[in-house]
Amino acid sequence: MGRVYNFSAGPAVLPEEVLKTAQAEMLDYHGCGQSVMEMSHRSKVFDDLIHETEADLRTLMQIPDNYKVLFLQGGASLQFSMIPMNLMKNRVADYIITGQWAKKAWQEARKYGQANVVASSEDKTFSYIPDCSDLPISPDADYVYICENNTIYGTKYKKLPNTKGKLLVSDVSSCFLSEPVNVSDYGIIYGGVQKNIGPAGMVISIIREDLITDDVMEFTPTMMKFKTHADAGSMYNTPNCYCIYMCGLVFKWLLKMGGLSVMKERNEAKAKVLYDFLDQSEMFKGTVVKEDRSLMNVPFVTGDKDLDAKFVKEAEAAGFVNLKGHRSVGGMRASIYNAMPAEGVDALVAFMKNFEKENG
Ligand SMILES: *Cc1c(COP(=O)(O)O)cnc(C)c1O
Repeated sequence: MGRVYNFSAGPAVLPEEVLKTAQAEMLDYHGCGQSVMEMSHRSKVFDDLIHETEADLRTLMQIPDNYKVLFLQGGASLQFSMIPMNLMKNRVADYIITGQWAKKAWQEARKYGQANVVASSEDKTFSYIPDCSDLPISPDADYVYICENNTIYGTKYKKLPNTKGKLLVSDVSSCFLSEPVNVSDYGIIYGGVQKNIGPAGMVISIIREDLITDDVMEFTPTMMKFKTHADAGSMYNTPNCYCIYMCGLVFKWLLKMGGLSVMKERNEAKAKVLYDFLDQSEMFKGTVVKEDRSLMNVPFVTGDKDLDAKFVKEAEAAGFVNLKGHRSVGGMRASIYNAMPAEGVDALVAFMKNFEKENG
């Protein structure tokens, strides 16, 4: 079997070129006679690798000098507790609930302080982003928390909330590097890498320097203090070396592609093909309001569970895999991250057209 078109929400498709480089370098990384998997993280070779990886990310995202880049373990989910432990000085934070991931982060934060829900779109199955222009932000909130792209529901903030001067913390797991961002708009911008960047098992957290202090909750484990990792250049303990290497290859691929503005154009063009089809289809319907549509995760339904199942099954047989929607939404979801080629989306739409003709 050849390569399939993989629409998985995560772990997800990686650029074929990157996988080939990793394959070529598997036994002997840059003439050192070892794989990156085998080498000491304290070696000069790895030290150069991690520094170059960080430098490439800084170039891609134009990260200001007063932000630290941390490569951490525990996935995006461990940040749900690290963030309150490190930032809740007044023990108050405001959360905007736009899906399961924001909700999980909020539930975790409630263990450490007063975590207020200042807006939510749960009333309509998270199918939209609430108006965040004038929210009841708490006067003593340590931060305002959002999940910027909602992987499960397929919505994305097109405009950041008005935090009324409070720090903004954003989970960008499923839209990381999909378009340019202004890092200075955030106190922390972070994401698990397995959606749009690399293999599973790591989170990249980009944190404004002044937020990295010893003033954390007294019970905070050493491993969960941002300062522990910042002081040690993400090498307090053994980092996820191979994942850092893979992310580095993806950063180089993105730089070669022309950077994040070019990726944004490509992602908009790809998403348009699928959304335009959904908007005129009699059978398939998108599930979120048009203004808030994600460029990365596109959920859709036929309205008939059996037909959805038939579609997913036939699509898989035709080489379009992982299209089944999240268990909480049902239907289908096509995740069309950076590494999904335009041809993959074109081919999927052609397949959907044909399916509609044969089953309509
Ligand atoms: C996948 C995902 C997570 C969870 O990531 P883990 O690395 O599995 O902890 C959190 N937030 C968002 C937006 C996600 O898409």
